[in-house]
Amino acid sequence: MVHATDVLVVGSGPGGLSAALAAARCGVQVTLLERFGCFGGNITVVGVEGFAWYRHEATVEAGGIGREFEERAKEMGAAVPESQSLSYELDSEGFKIVADTLVREAGIHPLLHRQFVAPIMDGREIIGVIVESKAGREAILAKRVIDATGDADVAHRAGAPTRKTPIEEMQAASVMFHLAGVDKAAFLAGVRDDPQSYRDWSSGEWEVETDGKEDDMFSPFLGKPFAQAIRDGVIPAHLNTIGGTWGAMHDSGELTYMNVLHLAGCDGTDPDSMTRSEMEGRRQAMHAIDALRRYTPGCGAARLRNFGMSIGIRDTRKINALYNMTETDVRGEARFEDSIGIYPEFIDGYGILVIPTTGRYMHIPYRSMLPKNVENLLVAGRAIGGDRIAHAATRNMACCAVAGQGAGVAAALSVKTDCALAALDVAALQKVLLSQGVRIA
Ligand SMILES: Cc1cc2nc3c(=O)[nH]c(=O)nc-3n(C[C@H](O)[C@H](O)[C@H](O)COP(=O)(O)OP(=O)(O)OC[C@H]3O[C@@H](n4cnc5c(N)ncnc54)[C@H](O)[C@@H]3O)c2cc1C
Repeated sequence: MVHATDVLVVGSGPGGLSAALAAARCGVQVTLLERFGCFGGNITVVGVEGFAWYRHEATVEAGGIGREFEERAKEMGAAVPESQSLSYELDSEGFKIVADTLVREAGIHPLLHRQFVAPIMDGREIIGVIVESKAGREAILAKRVIDATGDADVAHRAGAPTRKTPIEEMQAASVMFHLAGVDKAAFLAGVRDDPQSYRDWSSGEWEVETDGKEDDMFSPFLGKPFAQAIRDGVIPAHLNTIGGTWGAMHDSGELTYMNVLHLAGCDGTDPDSMTRSEMEGRRQAMHAIDALRRYTPGCGAARLRNFGMSIGIRDTRKINALYNMTETDVRGEARFEDSIGIYPEFIDGYGILVIPTTGRYMHIPYRSMLPKNVENLLVAGRAIGGDRIAHAATRNMACCAVAGQGAGVAAALSVKTDCALAALDVAALQKVLLSQGVRIA
């Protein structure tokens, strides 16, 4: 037994990092456990930089720690204006420092390089976790555990029911890459000369359903260079799934957050499947770069700057929670008595794209983070309870931060009041969240 804590957060993505910060700011002891060498989850590990690319003039925002991520990153030189919205794009490398700073300031006990492998149970109660690392097997005890692994690893192994999208319907995985050596002026002139819109997402292999209002809006979409490369025999014809968006064009010639590869059939809970897709993704990336060099203005001398540290996984297990959010909830501005925060009507996934240009938003209910059959455990981030289309909204990073902050405050209050998570005084929870700058209603 190497450590004991009040609240243990497993996983440090937008969900886990927010949870740890929110709990620590309530004055309890918090430990943040992460299998890799940096905090930030998909932001830093995969290179997902578009934190709030949905934001437009009329968007009603959640506030709270998600917004703080953008603001701190901006202050620390780790964010640049995002190309299609009123938001800032996070710098995936710089955000490692932002996350370290936030963790240090909040007095969180950091545990990097340790992987959760099993829960420690006392009947239905989780009382700690087993981790593995270069130091071997170790135990960490905790009064409350927050599962922010993205894959509901803790909930699943503790015996809580989960569901996984069937592999043929799962959202594709992506190997993310960033380029250097791009001529910024020439690239942006090319974008201006041939502007793309969200309608173009429906070109090629996909049909994307929108609300209609999205269709003529600018999108940093790249499809034509890859189609041309296939026509010219530069890349193999079966790679007709290459296409997607670029994130930011930096003054330094870096073109970042190249989200153009889609690896279908990758199960993020199966290391064999991930191995195949990781290697295939890197192979496809080199074809994509070849096409960009030949057919995209300003990219003639582009070179690979780096891949994300890991393949990006969008879709694995979700808990069967006390309340599972539904498509009707996310499309219909759901309101809940036990709201722990709001999220604008941004739905992106499973062939649907709705951008919150209208001020519509939904509540996130506390019960969607409470797993069945296991006590002392909350789930935050993309594994909260919901159906497929609900997940297309709640998986987004700013929404994961909303759930994370709600879970963090709930876990802290539950320790402080010695009250079971499921019996928590929701009004008291909402009061603390409001005091932390979260919009509840
Ligand atoms: C390619 C790609 C592009 C995307 N684009 C966007 C976008 O533009 N905008 C947007 O909002 N969202 C986007 N998403 C979705 C978004 O990134 C995720 O849904 C979100 O990051 C989930 O947050 P999380 O905190 O739940 O989990 P994650 O960000 O996945 O973080 C989980 C953390 O837990 C750690 N972990 C996992 N298992 C263990 C374990 N057993 N032990 C210890 N640590 C563990 C991981 O290392 C990781 O750091 C994208 C996703 C992908 C893959």
